[in-house]
Amino acid sequence: MISDKMKKLVAGSSLIRAMFEEGKLLAERDGIENVYDFSLGNPNVEPPKEVKDAIIEILNEESPNRVHGYMNNSGFEDVREAIAAYTNKNYHTDVSGRHVVMTVGAAGGLNIILKTILNPGEEVITFAPYFTEYGHYVNNYDGHLIVVPPNTETFQPDIEGLREAITPKTKAVIINSPNNPTGVIYSSQTLTQMAKVLNEKQEQYNTTIYLISDEPYRELVYDDIEVPYLLNYYQNTFVGYSYSKSLSLPGERIGYIVVHPQMAHVDETLGGLNVANRILGFVNAPSLFQRVIAKTLGSEVDVSIYKKNRDLLFEHLTKTGFDCLEPQGAFYLFVKTPIEDDRQFCIDAKEYNLLLVPGSAFGCPGYVRIAYCISYQRVKNSLPAFTKLWQRYQ
Ligand code: PLP
Repeated sequence: MISDKMKKLVAGSSLIRAMFEEGKLLAERDGIENVYDFSLGNPNVEPPKEVKDAIIEILNEESPNRVHGYMNNSGFEDVREAIAAYTNKNYHTDVSGRHVVMTVGAAGGLNIILKTILNPGEEVITFAPYFTEYGHYVNNYDGHLIVVPPNTETFQPDIEGLREAITPKTKAVIINSPNNPTGVIYSSQTLTQMAKVLNEKQEQYNTTIYLISDEPYRELVYDDIEVPYLLNYYQNTFVGYSYSKSLSLPGERIGYIVVHPQMAHVDETLGGLNVANRILGFVNAPSLFQRVIAKTLGSEVDVSIYKKNRDLLFEHLTKTGFDCLEPQGAFYLFVKTPIEDDRQFCIDAKEYNLLLVPGSAFGCPGYVRIAYCISYQRVKNSLPAFTKLWQRYQ
């Protein structure tokens, strides 16, 4: 018999994954080319060639026992040093290898951070719309996720909402920019105000409030917009990074955390992350891909492929009558649904073989997420289906 907690989790299992499974069934029925599956953020752009070259070079040239063996639970020292140097060069920070912890993707990173900092009953704040898994990750350590309602004008975090949400029990704030599901990049102005509120509240309650910046989409940015680096804004910051999207390697489960060198109790925190990596059963991030990452720092996927999709879809949807903000990054469009019930809208969309995810899954009903990380041809073929879906409600 499985646990009561797990029973509930299975019953409410991921809506996005369910959509993905449904897509496979529709593809069997109507042919894959006639199904427009915009449900999952699984990158379609290939990893850069440097990744394959690095794998081959490592396997040919490095000692197999080193490549495939255990290492420090926080990762290979030389890899961590390389990431620290890369971070300092690009973001004018002052971190060393010991402030970098290699993780099993962004998800693994968030889990070891929360395992390290949370006592049962403590609160973690995030801003709607947000990546649904945050609720599960916080719940894993018996914390409570507190959601600040969305500012649907800009989808920037609501700073006054944050101020009101912070209590003496607040342990952390999770942000995600470029954002899933809106594609919005949080502005330097917003982040400066956020840091100010966090500092004021730390002082008021005599507590430590951590800022966790979840950044798997950092490199997926259009039109040369800068993504502010959070270590330059607030001292008690963890940056959680992942190569799942920036190098199209989601199945390889590789990422890292950077800890602010001046974070409160920094040594204790680094020790906690190291132990959490071990005792949650990750033990360490995948060894081969740690070595690959060190060799390919600075490599990127071809973001122009996503940009082409964004431009085509955004132009068509807005011309048709749909209301949405132009995404600045990531590979999602977050569109206002022409009916109030976003779940019903997604059910209706399926009649046109369009698989979309309701905004309710991100704490923001009345919207729908379109993951445009699929082929350009498929996006192009889907446009008449979006038109018909719009006309259905006119
Ligand atoms: N955070 C956000 C905002 C995401 O969108 C995702 C994946 O879609 C993750 C974390 C998990 O990323 P990873 O595959 O690196 O664990």
